[in-house]
Amino acid sequence: MAKLDLVLEELVTANRILAREEVVDSFGHVSVRHPDRPDRFLLSRARAPDCIEVEDIMEFTLEGESIDARDRKPYLERFIHGACYEARPDVQAVVHNHSPSVIPFGVTDQKLKPLLHMCASIGHDVPTWDSQTKFGDTTLLVENMEMGRDLAASLGRGRTALMRGHGAVVVAPNLRHAVFISVYLEVAAKLQMQAMPMGNVKYLTNGEVEKIINRTGPYTIDRAWENWCRRAGRPITKSA
Ligand SMILES: [Zn+2]
Repeated sequence: MAKLDLVLEELVTANRILAREEVVDSFGHVSVRHPDRPDRFLLSRARAPDCIEVEDIMEFTLEGESIDARDRKPYLERFIHGACYEARPDVQAVVHNHSPSVIPFGVTDQKLKPLLHMCASIGHDVPTWDSQTKFGDTTLLVENMEMGRDLAASLGRGRTALMRGHGAVVVAPNLRHAVFISVYLEVAAKLQMQAMPMGNVKYLTNGEVEKIINRTGPYTIDRAWENWCRRAGRPITKSA
């Protein structure tokens, strides 16, 4: 299979997995940087992730302009993706979701922090981006590049940021890794809400997070990917 075809198949699979694992529902999206054109990215037309097929995948410039839209309508919030690729050359995949357990951490002063080793990939400190700070009253949707760039800046060098009253953004060096972090971001939030009423929580230290991140590679991620492909009813392709 040609490189681009492999990437398109993996992107369909990523959509189905995120839906199956309840990180996205009818809303939320995942993209990948174009394998041959770093100044472009691939993202489905506006469609629920569990319904997405290869022919739904569109190509965009980093400014969010579609290359060959035909009759396909893009996601309004495609600017999240373009702005992350623009700000971070190391980023090869982006997920935007509204996964329910992360929402309380975006609207309170309770910081989301990993307490389980599998969740270290979310980073030691998960920042929260508040659209209100710079843009005042909006629909909270990231509907232009200015908002996208402001959100991307809030990531710093990290891999996750919460969006107040809205959801989260996850960036990663490849598609499988972005899916992995997104699934465990939801797990982290759920566990933290369960642990907090029980007493003082001992979170992972910065040093622990760094050590775990440094050894999280295909050995770990591909095992999860195989399992999630099975659960989502998708074939396991050779890693794109
Ligand atoms: Zn959204």
